[in-house]
Amino acid sequence: QTQTVTDYVNELFIQVQQRNPHEKEFQQAVKEVLVSLVPVLEKNPTYIKHAVLERMLEPDRLISFKVPWVDDAGNIKVNRGYRVQFNNAIGPYKGGLRFHSSVNASIIKFLGFEQIFKNSLTGQPIGGGKGGSDFDPKGKSDQEIMRFCQSFMTELSKYIGPDIDVPAGDIGVGAREIGYLFGQYKRLKGAYEAGVLTGKGVGYGGSLGRKEATGYGLVYFVEEMLKSQGLHFNNSRVVVSGSGNVSIYAMEKAIQLGAKVVACSDSNGYIYDPNGINLETVKQLKEVENKRIYEYVKEHPDALYQEGYTGIWGIPCDIALPCATQNELNKEAAEKLISNGVNAVGEGANMPSTLEAVDTFIHHNVLFAPAKAANAGGVAVSALEMAQNSARIAWTQDEVDKKLQEIMKNIYSKSIKAAEDYATRGNLVAGANIAGFIKVADAMIAQGI
Ligand code: GLU
Repeated sequence: QTQTVTDYVNELFIQVQQRNPHEKEFQQAVKEVLVSLVPVLEKNPTYIKHAVLERMLEPDRLISFKVPWVDDAGNIKVNRGYRVQFNNAIGPYKGGLRFHSSVNASIIKFLGFEQIFKNSLTGQPIGGGKGGSDFDPKGKSDQEIMRFCQSFMTELSKYIGPDIDVPAGDIGVGAREIGYLFGQYKRLKGAYEAGVLTGKGVGYGGSLGRKEATGYGLVYFVEEMLKSQGLHFNNSRVVVSGSGNVSIYAMEKAIQLGAKVVACSDSNGYIYDPNGINLETVKQLKEVENKRIYEYVKEHPDALYQEGYTGIWGIPCDIALPCATQNELNKEAAEKLISNGVNAVGEGANMPSTLEAVDTFIHHNVLFAPAKAANAGGVAVSALEMAQNSARIAWTQDEVDKKLQEIMKNIYSKSIKAAEDYATRGNLVAGANIAGFIKVADAMIAQGI
């Protein structure tokens, strides 16, 4: 029996490789999920009978479109836009938009695939989707960003809606971009459909607490995981990669819980501040002035700046929170962290650790919080934003934060329980994949082919 299910899963993976050649990131995300589902399929052959995985591995649709726009000098530029609508068994497609030069079909599909399981784990009625463009926002003027967003939405608007597909932000897409995208959608529809996008400004339908949600949620989740071993953020040394929205609010919550955050980074390099990172300086640089992280050392001469973003994993710490981007933490980095005595790793970014790095952490009994569970706070509060928009009400910051804490605790206990039910005790990677999968799989079966 074991042999047969493993063979079946291997066969599925080969099909995915053949059907999606060269899509390394998508294949990586699929592989991790397939491996962890073996015990579930052994116990419940009905999922095989209904070809649930075959159906889940193929997105409902992948939309790819042209985004022409005009730069400030009057030159005509063309980028490619994407939206993958992966699975809507439990709710409208939901997931962010990423504007980054690395964006391609593989990246969008890996992100959309992960979103199915993550969104299911939140307990909210949201399916899995993702989108974006290879547009590079770095160095673009505000007017250029606006024109790009308007052109992007002119095409995307044909495929989305509050009950169809609800995009939000991701790397390169924050409140400013969501504002321009929403303005264009509203103009095209001639209607105020607040729930079509989340991450909106709080003055026009956004939710309080959405900006902080991914970072805070990550720390709430990791704190639960630490507590199970009698550990805490209090008095710990923390390294957080990245300096975007996820990273900044993970640092903020970790500091509030009594931790000392000693390092953070951007795609050029990292800063190490033995006195503890001054978050006000980071916020000013990244949220207000749009500057690079090396500027930090100008104000804090005790801090060091190093070129290259992977070196950050060489800094000794108790807790590591990779919050930058996919595959930023490889096996070598994992070994470095372990030899420096790391207790826990929590993934704030999507798939920041390579498969080998994850195996290394688990093999060495490092507490490991996988992205699908640990960074689900952002999309969870997006679902709360949709709920508020539908009801035409606005909850207070405190109400949203309480709900977020509750959701992160639930995700933790669901994942732990699934890991126990399927004999992969304590392995949150498997537990999160399993718990996320079962809800979607059961809904697919109930709804027929
Ligand atoms: N981009 C975030 C994620 O990776 C948030 C998505 C959303 O709020 O829809 O989950």
